[in-house]
Amino acid sequence: MKKHLIAAIFICTALSCMAQEKVKPAIPRDEKIEAKIEKRLSKMTLEDKIGQMLELNFDVMGRTDYSTGVWTLNETMLDTIISKYKIGSILNAPGTRAATVDQWQEWIQLIQKKSMKYIGIPDIYGLDQNHGVTYTQAGTLFPQPINLGASFNTELAREMAEVTAYESRAGNCPWVYNPVLDLGRDPRWPRIWESFGEDAIVNARMAEAEVKGYQGDDPNHLGKYNVATSVKHYMAYGAPFTGKDRTPAYLSPAMIREKYFEPFKAAILAGALSIMVNSSSINGVPVHASYEYLTKWLKEDLNWDGMILTDWADINNLFMRERVAKDKKDAIRIAINAGIDMSMDPYSVDFCILLKELVDEGKVSMDRIDDAVRRILRLKYRLGLFDNPNTGGRDYSKFGSEEFAMKALHAAEESEILLKNEDNVLPLAKGVKILLTGPNANQMRCLHGGWSYTWQGSGAEDLAEQYNTIYEAFCNKFGKENVILEQGVTYNEKGLYWQENEPEIEKAVKAAAEADVIIACIGENSYCETPGNLTDLWLSENQRNLVKELAKTGKDIILVLNEGRPRLVTDIEPLAKAIVDILLPGNYGADALANLLSGEVNFSAKLPYTYPREINSLANYDYKVSEEVFTMAGAYNYDAKVSLMWPFGHGLSYTTIEYCNLRVDKEVFGADDELTVSIDVKNVGSSEAKEAVLLYSSDLVASMVPDNRRLRDFQKTELQPGETKTVTFKLPAKNLAFVGADGHWILEEGDFILKIGMQTVKVQCRETKKWDTPNI
Ligand code: BGC
Repeated sequence: MKKHLIAAIFICTALSCMAQEKVKPAIPRDEKIEAKIEKRLSKMTLEDKIGQMLELNFDVMGRTDYSTGVWTLNETMLDTIISKYKIGSILNAPGTRAATVDQWQEWIQLIQKKSMKYIGIPDIYGLDQNHGVTYTQAGTLFPQPINLGASFNTELAREMAEVTAYESRAGNCPWVYNPVLDLGRDPRWPRIWESFGEDAIVNARMAEAEVKGYQGDDPNHLGKYNVATSVKHYMAYGAPFTGKDRTPAYLSPAMIREKYFEPFKAAILAGALSIMVNSSSINGVPVHASYEYLTKWLKEDLNWDGMILTDWADINNLFMRERVAKDKKDAIRIAINAGIDMSMDPYSVDFCILLKELVDEGKVSMDRIDDAVRRILRLKYRLGLFDNPNTGGRDYSKFGSEEFAMKALHAAEESEILLKNEDNVLPLAKGVKILLTGPNANQMRCLHGGWSYTWQGSGAEDLAEQYNTIYEAFCNKFGKENVILEQGVTYNEKGLYWQENEPEIEKAVKAAAEADVIIACIGENSYCETPGNLTDLWLSENQRNLVKELAKTGKDIILVLNEGRPRLVTDIEPLAKAIVDILLPGNYGADALANLLSGEVNFSAKLPYTYPREINSLANYDYKVSEEVFTMAGAYNYDAKVSLMWPFGHGLSYTTIEYCNLRVDKEVFGADDELTVSIDVKNVGSSEAKEAVLLYSSDLVASMVPDNRRLRDFQKTELQPGETKTVTFKLPAKNLAFVGADGHWILEEGDFILKIGMQTVKVQCRETKKWDTPNI
């Protein structure tokens, strides 16, 4: 009996080794690092190990004087927390307000000094540096990720990440909670602008670019200008059924694997060193409690040796909100056994006590603890923190430089979208008199959005004073004498993000008499996370009334939409000659807009999501073919039309681009083939252009209802007037596969249409292939 058992164990172990070996490690192992980890681990007590698994909020180590709002560090408290609990990580900016680089230097150096003294292991400090150094004064703030998505230019994403890594290290912070890879597929969700939009491939390509930009090309040895990423929020966080932040997603397994997992997989294969988890649940299972998604999909299937971090207090949420645990201890047991390596438990050290009890009671194994701690130590070794716990000083003289500012400006120019331009009303004629109106016309907060100096982006006008609002940028570009500012509607800066002051629309209407053209800057004020929830997707009534009243003057109206998500503008769209969606373009967004409207720079961005027309039709571009039902013959009208304002990928420019000669090297292909798809792209207008070329495919018949179309690849190319370029894509046939009802990837025999612009070509797959492995 015993013998059989031993034999069975032997066979199982051998089989699991074989299975393990099949998957190449996502990040190549560095044996020297591994040896150091083992040596270090062997000297650690259980308490030491558990301490490494806890991340606390810096706020708890100091005190805020509420009369001045000033936070001061309590060194004794810091000393106690590090010496007693041996905690491995600290996060956040005190009071979530940007500090100076020098202040960051001082704080983190002190933390490192104490960590090395009491633990012998450096701390890993983490910050939400989402579009630049959020929490450092005078740093460079780029456009938000949704704008980078709209640029369809992965090079810009890489540059943003490189600059952010540099400036983050200047402030001694080695770890950023970015990029955000939640597909922004629900326009109601308040965090859609933190992602690159609704498409899996756009998010995946941007993720790869940012991971390389932040971490450099060698994930085992990060340089002094690199930071580790924590890609987030794994996964499907952006698909809340209610549209509200941190609420459940209900998605088909195929949809999860095929779309929501894709950008995370891409980031991991590009070397992402850590992952932060979705606060909510998928199909009833909180992701923080999911062994399947955390351990199986990431650590085993991808053979990834990186580190998994919770989101804010999310182990507590397993019992307080999700009710899958009876108390905090039970919640810790569930989360750690599911695969969580580090708990972001901002305000409490209970984790240390409770996890130790769980290990002593045999409810969490020592192996699991060791696995988690290895992953944490590996991250710290890869970052070089043991040798150099601090960075900053003279080597970082480019912090906040003109060179970085120019990069942010160019990124903004490539990310503002021209949605409509009737009668070529844009570019603006020289010397026209402009009425600038609307709540977004003269403040920085709405341009840079949330995660800018403060969490909500509010209360920080003093820190953004040196940058231009739209009004200031327009005065610089078109001459102060040509710009009249009368906002008509303004935000209540002391209120919630959606609150406005009593409108003064008649003042704006009166001012319009003096102007040749009206530019209405409308949209949203800044917000972030749950405080950004909304009850109505329509743009505010005051703002729409402002446009309606101004339209009665008969003057040309240009709408500038400055918003974190696509708010409904269906009733005012016909009143405008031109519409530009600048999304959240950052500190140089207004200068970029002035350059674009003057015609000095050409538009080249495209919508990274579908812009809805009706509240009851919030479709994405890759909807299932059967979501669109045409009128049936007979007495009843059964139609269900997908109706939208502007489609995903829509964006105009001052020139005309023609596509012709779409061709593929193989009309019939096998499952292991690679297709070469080419198209000639010609700039037939008179302005220089940058064109994002988008390659789509449609599977005409499949065993599961196929998507209407899917983006498969994209490239941005520059074209001089009159120039033609051939753009070529290498498309592995397996990229046309889908996840079937049984959860396996499958490519089916049959016809596909490839499409670029209005050009199409039919190709045929001659065989059906199913993949055994979950990741192909
Ligand atoms: C957010 C994360 C963020 C974390 C730390 C959470 O509330 O969901 O995106 O990284 O806080 O600030």
